[in-house]
Amino acid sequence: MVDYEALGLKVGLEIHQQLDTQAKLFCECPAELSEEDYDVFVRQLRPTRSELGDVDPAALFEWRKGRMYRYQAPHGHSCLVEADEEPPHPINREAVRIALAVARALGSTVVDEIHVMRKTVIDGSNTSGFQRTAIIALGGSLRVGGREIPIETIVLEEDAARKVGEDGVYVEYRLDRLGIPLIEIATAPVIKSPHEAREVAQAIGRLLRLTGKVKRGLGTIRQDLNVSISGGAKTEIKGVQRLDLIPKVVENEVQRQLKLLEIREELRSRGLSRDTLSSIAPADLTGVLKDSKSRVIRRTVSKGGAVIGVLLPRMKGLLGREVMPGRRFGGEVADYARFWAGVGGIIHSDELPGYGISLDEVEEVYRALGGDSSSDAFALIADRRERALKAARAVLERIELTLEGVPEETRAALEDGTTRFLRPRPGSARMYPETDIPPLLVSEELLREAEVLAPPDPESVVAELTEKYGLSRQLAWSVIDDERFKTIVSLIERLGGKLEPSYIAGVFVVTLRGLEGEGVNVSSVPDEKLVEIVERVASGEIAREAVEEIVRRLAENPSESVDEAIEKLGLSKLGRKEIERVVDEIVNSLRGEIVKRGERSMGLVMGRAMAKLRGRADGRIVSEIVRRKISEVLRE
Ligand SMILES: [Zn+2]
Repeated sequence: MVDYEALGLKVGLEIHQQLDTQAKLFCECPAELSEEDYDVFVRQLRPTRSELGDVDPAALFEWRKGRMYRYQAPHGHSCLVEADEEPPHPINREAVRIALAVARALGSTVVDEIHVMRKTVIDGSNTSGFQRTAIIALGGSLRVGGREIPIETIVLEEDAARKVGEDGVYVEYRLDRLGIPLIEIATAPVIKSPHEAREVAQAIGRLLRLTGKVKRGLGTIRQDLNVSISGGAKTEIKGVQRLDLIPKVVENEVQRQLKLLEIREELRSRGLSRDTLSSIAPADLTGVLKDSKSRVIRRTVSKGGAVIGVLLPRMKGLLGREVMPGRRFGGEVADYARFWAGVGGIIHSDELPGYGISLDEVEEVYRALGGDSSSDAFALIADRRERALKAARAVLERIELTLEGVPEETRAALEDGTTRFLRPRPGSARMYPETDIPPLLVSEELLREAEVLAPPDPESVVAELTEKYGLSRQLAWSVIDDERFKTIVSLIERLGGKLEPSYIAGVFVVTLRGLEGEGVNVSSVPDEKLVEIVERVASGEIAREAVEEIVRRLAENPSESVDEAIEKLGLSKLGRKEIERVVDEIVNSLRGEIVKRGERSMGLVMGRAMAKLRGRADGRIVSEIVRRKISEVLRE
């Protein structure tokens, strides 16, 4: 067990959630993704001279790479505002109302006037070169597991365009997502354990959902984390999409920082100094390795590129050291070189011989670099000469940072809970007022409008579900943590007289989740269809046992209606006449047996009948008909 408290773990969360508004934040386009036809236009973005001095180096680097951006502008889901050919319209009041309602629920202090600001982004994800963002409220707190977690800011901002591809110098974005309103809630960095980080994220997500005004599904909520331990550094981790990944991401980051500190101590005890590092010069090893069997090297050399080597004194064994599951320190160094020099990667001595490089060649490299194979390490970069040299310098820089400890950086969360280097951490982003949009006064009227949307207290919702509808507390919590919360509650209210509320809740939080667990894409089935299925159960048209199969079929055949699915599966409940017909057939074929066994043939006939009718007929009715038909046969 890791003692996170003793390590001084501090985690802060930034939750970004898309709001379910009619229109986008700064225009009247619908706030939703779209697969419709689109026009294409191309831009090259550049920061203006006055902004250039304030752009962080990482962003500037993006721009210098000479990227071109291609935009898909779907006809009904983008306009001249997304194309940056028309000034943004005033901020969407519906989005402001939702943010104000959330602010109120968190006890935050609402600003008097909402000022829209510009935050420079030059990765092309916004056609204007900046993201528009507005502070709505400051402070407040949220009670989670008996602790009060302070909230720092509540912000409204526009979502970025969605990246759909990349080829050569082109990056392609789709403009449907650009401008969808996002609420961003940032907590103070006071969270003390991986588990608590998840709890807090869940509580914030729940609060947002209870407004009934947020989008749902993968990609509509994104969690960013900042993580540090004593002696480490604040690492920003972007884009955790699943709640259950949060603890893993925190655990892995703590491990990474501990390992980096361990490597620093090791380097210090081996006596590596900054002076030693600054005396290292990258060397051209193209001649030494020109006959190598390494495919990367052969390909580079045949295209006129170079192999650059750089000695890493006293580092033997350290590049191969694991810093988090499946990631070695050498990988961290390679990511750094990739970012600053745009190379594909590096090869380091801890993974050699290998990649077609022989032991003899390794020895030759050590000789050429003037290193000692028993204590030193080296890195090789095969690429265009200029780029490879730049990468070699980036490698040395990354090692130098290791002498200090953990560098401040921004990392991307991966699907398996590990992370990878994205870019150095920018200084606090500078903002400029968006002069095209007048400030919005937060009037009494606006605050009153927001009150209607105030999310209820989760505890009181649970109390209502248990007292009024008889759900167990556990089931009630599952319901309010379900993204279809609103749908479930309205079904319970509407159909609670015909079906037990716990059955209705169970369809969603047990049956559907079970299907998801089997890999069925339940989220592709719209709520309306799920509602329809439960209604069919309530009216007796289909059996309860049929629900699972129908949902499975609809997930696989999204274009089918509920009726079509029921028909194709042969699951519609049969009328009394049809049941009689089926039973008649069975009774006729078993006539001899029935006569012989008398009343005792009930089980046999019933078994045959249910095998044919299961899911399509109520067992009680079948048994009643079977009993009657048998006595008819016996009377004859
Ligand atoms: Zn628009």
